Amino acid sequence: MKFENTLPFAQQQDANDPLRKFRSAFLFPQHEGKDAIYFCGNSLGLQPKATRDYILKQLDNWSAYGVEGHFKTDTPWMYYQKTTKESLAKLIGAKPIEVVAMNQLTVNLHLMMVSFYRPTKDRYKIIMEGGAFPSDQYAMESQVRFHGFAPEDAIIELIPREGEYTLRQEDILDTIEQHKDSLALVMMGGVNYYTGQFFPLKEITQKAHEAGAFCGFDLAHAMGNVPMELHDWDVDFAMWCSYKYLNSSPGGISGIYIHEKHCTNPDTPRFAGWWGYKEDTRFQMKKGYIPEPGAEGWQMSNVPVLTMAAHRAALDLFDEASLSALREKSLKLTAYMEYIVNEANKKIGFEKFNIITPLEPANRGAQLSIICKEGGKKVFDKLTEQGVIGDWREPEVLRFAPVPMYNSFEDVYRFGEILKTND
Ligand SMILES: *Cc1c(COP(=O)(O)O)cnc(C)c1O
Repeated sequence: MKFENTLPFAQQQDANDPLRKFRSAFLFPQHEGKDAIYFCGNSLGLQPKATRDYILKQLDNWSAYGVEGHFKTDTPWMYYQKTTKESLAKLIGAKPIEVVAMNQLTVNLHLMMVSFYRPTKDRYKIIMEGGAFPSDQYAMESQVRFHGFAPEDAIIELIPREGEYTLRQEDILDTIEQHKDSLALVMMGGVNYYTGQFFPLKEITQKAHEAGAFCGFDLAHAMGNVPMELHDWDVDFAMWCSYKYLNSSPGGISGIYIHEKHCTNPDTPRFAGWWGYKEDTRFQMKKGYIPEPGAEGWQMSNVPVLTMAAHRAALDLFDEASLSALREKSLKLTAYMEYIVNEANKKIGFEKFNIITPLEPANRGAQLSIICKEGGKKVFDKLTEQGVIGDWREPEVLRFAPVPMYNSFEDVYRFGEILKTND
């Protein structure tokens, strides 16, 4: 597609955008009386206007029914987590039985390690991406130590080649091959938070399985961003948070996926709590844990209804928009941002902004990570002053995510107008 660096072009794209109505379903932070240019949906998604009513409805149910809200009302709390399963499954290419919303992300990462990191003396290594999100690094490190191994020995980090920022598929697969006799687990991000690289999940999973290891992904930056087929790709497990692309409230509820072959097997190890007990006899309160078949058998605590209500409100919009339509727009919108950044470089007269996110659209989602040749923090502050909300990640990266659900081509164009002023 041929892009133009003009306001009428951007506005024309917006007029032709089949998803344009979704922008008005969200509340935008204000800057000088106008909507800010919000490119931070990879960190905290915007608030859907409907969220308030969904939460108020549960507060009303609570006041009207008290404890009986668990069974009375049209959204009984006892089953409230079930209302999100189908929507979540669609977003990752899973079966509803394979998913459940529960807890928070790092907690779920640990719980998945309980089920899928069961190291032996000979098979104890974990492959992950170098520079993974810190919480994931700490989780892995503490898991490895918990099992009596040394992180320096047990954790193999995938590092880009000299002079490169992202990982090559062949290098990932070669590393798995190299450690195949001692490998217990491959556990990586789906989309890396720093570079925005979307990893080849299918190929990685296949290779991990050939090596006799389990394979799981932290989908914090992939969920609601890129299309996936976790079930068909035979991915063993995954987890995500809902406050990034899923717009489900700050610190909102996380979710897990466990492949059918594992989650329907009552012998798959797990830490148990009463809410994962077989549903039809849960309230007999008997001794001896019998899990509910499916991912729900990993629930430990009863449902946090208010954050689940925010989640449900946000998922309605994904159901309506559909991930395939969102991805189609996202490919265009991110390509437009790439073009606009290059236009800014042309105007300034040198490659001031270096995009380190893969340029191949299949290998990225909505985010572009940019390293400035000079004065990165100054550029960031200038953008902030003028109403662009992105983020700055130490040591040197600016991240901007044009989110297809609510960002427009005009947002991207206006961002470029600020970016290209070299002061
Ligand atoms: C955002 C993010 C987290 C945050 O973890 P919480 O437990 O939700 O605080 C963890 N891992 C990755 C990869 C992330 O992107």
